[in-house]
Amino acid sequence: MINDYTRTALLINGEWKIPDGRDTIEVVDPATERVIGSVPAGTVADVEAAVASAKNAFDPLVTVAERRERVAVILSAMEKRLPEIAEAITAEMGAPVRIAQGVQTQVPLAVARGFADVLDSFEFEERMGNSLVVREPYGVVGAITPWNYPLYQVVAKVLPAIAAGCTVVLKPSNEAPLSVFAFVDAVNEAGLPAGVLNLVSGPGAVIGERLAQHPDVDLVSFTGSTSVGARVAELAGRSIKKATLELGGKSANVILEGADLKTAVKVGVGNAFLNGGQTCMAWTRMLVPRSQYGEALELIEAAVGRYTVGDPWDPATRIGPSASASQFRSVRGFIERAQRDGARLLTGGAEQIRDVGYFIAPTVFADVDPTSELGQEEVFGPVLAVIPFDGEDEALEIANGTPYGLAGAVWAKDTDTAIAFARGVQTGQLDVNGGAYNPIAPFGGYKKSGIGRELGRVGFEEFLQTKSLQLPS
Ligand code: NAD
Repeated sequence: MINDYTRTALLINGEWKIPDGRDTIEVVDPATERVIGSVPAGTVADVEAAVASAKNAFDPLVTVAERRERVAVILSAMEKRLPEIAEAITAEMGAPVRIAQGVQTQVPLAVARGFADVLDSFEFEERMGNSLVVREPYGVVGAITPWNYPLYQVVAKVLPAIAAGCTVVLKPSNEAPLSVFAFVDAVNEAGLPAGVLNLVSGPGAVIGERLAQHPDVDLVSFTGSTSVGARVAELAGRSIKKATLELGGKSANVILEGADLKTAVKVGVGNAFLNGGQTCMAWTRMLVPRSQYGEALELIEAAVGRYTVGDPWDPATRIGPSASASQFRSVRGFIERAQRDGARLLTGGAEQIRDVGYFIAPTVFADVDPTSELGQEEVFGPVLAVIPFDGEDEALEIANGTPYGLAGAVWAKDTDTAIAFARGVQTGQLDVNGGAYNPIAPFGGYKKSGIGRELGRVGFEEFLQTKSLQLPS
């Protein structure tokens, strides 16, 4: 195990530089409530230096061969250091080792490989009538990421940006920056050209806001809460800067009559509680036909029993602590208010289930009013809302009846019926009758879940500008 998680320097122009400001951000292990390390609290001056370095390193004519080389360097560095990164993720945000070694690190690897494949086959030039349409790198990218999947969030931005020929200033979350420092350290050591990737940690309102409005940042790519996303978009808009936003969700898992109820419930519960429910695309509302409601609730209770909460370093643990004290308080507040709003607590509750650490039991509410806070707002904890419906029209109305539209699922008696229903759901991604996660499928939100898409070819294209050259006949 790594014992010293203290980082004192920021990566600027290929060198780790100790910032002038002495302030630091402490990182707390949410399972023990102990400080396990710290990172620098960067300042506006550090952002200026990092942006200047990224601007200097940006070459709009960078060849595709050079980009491939950069992506290859990142991929191999990442592969080598994955165990260390996984360990940091468990320490800093409490992801159980099976999650840290699994989805937290294996999905980013698959996503990164997906971008390498896109680059291998992408057509950067195309004839349209008498025009030659060329796709060019956007420029300097400001990437701002959250804590819930710290490596994934970084890879989903940094890889396509660099594959597109951009240079990056990365600002990680304050709760889970250690795994990001390990990733950036690995990549820099492996020989990425100086200035292509820069890292500045620090307060969101200082570092994030400066990146969003900096005149030399051409595109800001943000993942996080809807409220902060709105602020980032507002600041970016002032300088007519492109902003892509991956925001919150309140996704519906819709189980239609005739579906395989047992499988739909089992997969649905697993999805809602993955990563302790701290997943933006989690199916946090389960919509069940009233005719099968009782049976569904029994199946849910049985499924939840398998979600053991405890020490994240224990390989048997499926749910660790909430990632931070503030997250813990927020989740407990949602549970208490849902009880006051009249939802029926089926299992779990707001109690702290260990003396130390931010542990909450997996919690399920039945009879949730779709218009109540729990039916509308993202909790970002292990809390599932079960909602009965009468008929497919009502199911669709409830599914679409929140401000969000990020993900979801639909289960029906056959795939065609499920697809027909899925076409009506206002959301960026839906799993149809148990369809598997696809790391190259476009991912992003309708409505307040965001603007733009990440992953695969579509995510890659966000980092390209389009130029049309009208050619003489
Ligand atoms: P957050 O919005 O608080 O913070 C996200 C990032 O923005 C952090 O790096 C933070 O330091 C920075 N930030 C904070 N204030 C800022 C400001 N004023 N200007 C610029 N940057 C600022 O979100 P979080 O708590 O870290 O993450 C949880 C949220 O992220 C949830 O709402 C979740 O749904 C969302 N999320 C969305 C996706 C997606 O892909 N759609 C993925 C993961 C998480």
